[in-house]
Amino acid sequence: MAANKTLLMLPGDGIGPEVMREVRRIIEWMDRRRSVTFRIEEGLVGGAAIDAEGTPCSDATVARAKAADAVLFGSVGGPKWDSQPFENRPELGVLRLRKELGLFANLRPALVLNPLVDASSLKPDVVRGVDIMVVRESTGGIYFGEPRGIETMPDGKRRGVDTEVYTEDEIARVARVGFDLARKRRGKMTSVEKANVMQSGRLWRAVVGEIGRAEYPDVQLEHMYADNCAMQLCSRPKQFDVILGSNLFGDLLSDLAAALTGSLGMLPSATLGAVDATSGKRHALYEPVHGSAPDIAGKGIANPCAQILSFAMLLRWSFGMEEDAALLETAVEKVLGGGLRTADIMQTGMARVGTGV
Ligand code: ATP
Ligand code: MG
Repeated sequence: MAANKTLLMLPGDGIGPEVMREVRRIIEWMDRRRSVTFRIEEGLVGGAAIDAEGTPCSDATVARAKAADAVLFGSVGGPKWDSQPFENRPELGVLRLRKELGLFANLRPALVLNPLVDASSLKPDVVRGVDIMVVRESTGGIYFGEPRGIETMPDGKRRGVDTEVYTEDEIARVARVGFDLARKRRGKMTSVEKANVMQSGRLWRAVVGEIGRAEYPDVQLEHMYADNCAMQLCSRPKQFDVILGSNLFGDLLSDLAAALTGSLGMLPSATLGAVDATSGKRHALYEPVHGSAPDIAGKGIANPCAQILSFAMLLRWSFGMEEDAALLETAVEKVLGGGLRTADIMQTGMARVGTGV
């Protein structure tokens, strides 16, 4: 179980500390029910860290994150730090953590909860029962490939260059995360690329196929072009279980899948690194998909569900506390089903609550 594990909480800025406070309350409740065996540390990141330590993520915070078994992150940024130099902006706090911990697999569930079927952008019949996990490669691909930049050509005109590069190993390790997930879920994975027009896509399809045949014959693997996947997500989303994609395609498709589920305030995420060969530990950072929402910060009206569900993912993935994770997820659904809502998911005739309540 979670004995001797360490949780590092980094609430950050804006609504981050507000929604993190609700997780604290849940941990207190868990502790009353049956003693909590993991250790909790708290640190600064983003604007809060700039104010206190002069940098959005100090070396000491990186060291603590590396030593911890899991990091629960809130959100960073806000108008207060808009005038910071580009190299010292709050957002670099989480970017540095992702890089230092080697977090290459970003998991974004798109789960349509029954009580929120009407909050979706699609028709109730299309989205009822949707339960998708998008696995996005998050340290490689076109966001990092070289050469990149804006250069001036001999005729004086400029051109922008990005390069999509994937090695076999980069594809293989994120594919295994996807396959492992599919195995624990409904046994299906859809791998997306554009193998018809991109070389990195051809390699992606080949490597994922090889791993599937050799190591996961029990998982039903389907290859799909990314554009077709976008269309299918909007027309027949229930066909999907796990969707695996590159940094770019995973980014686009997870935002699209998120739109099926209703509010930004409901969406959790996890980013996982490699399993350390000596310690057996897998670095992982959990965070809500939403940002620091400066427009509502301090008003006590933020929806804490995304942060709470991120914590549930942490309990399941990093601490092996499946039962507690499921309990939290059920609790969220029950509260919403009972008609208690924050303003972002309000429907008429329901009781309005906030983080201050
Ligand atoms: P970032 O760049 O940090 O991702 P952003 O500009 O994309 O931030 P958010 O901070 O996520 O945006 O906020 C977008 C909108 O969604 C805002 O109007 C905000 O109030 C709302 N919002 C975000 N999170 C929540 C939440 N937990 N509860 C209620 N509303 C939210
Ligand atoms: Mg955003």
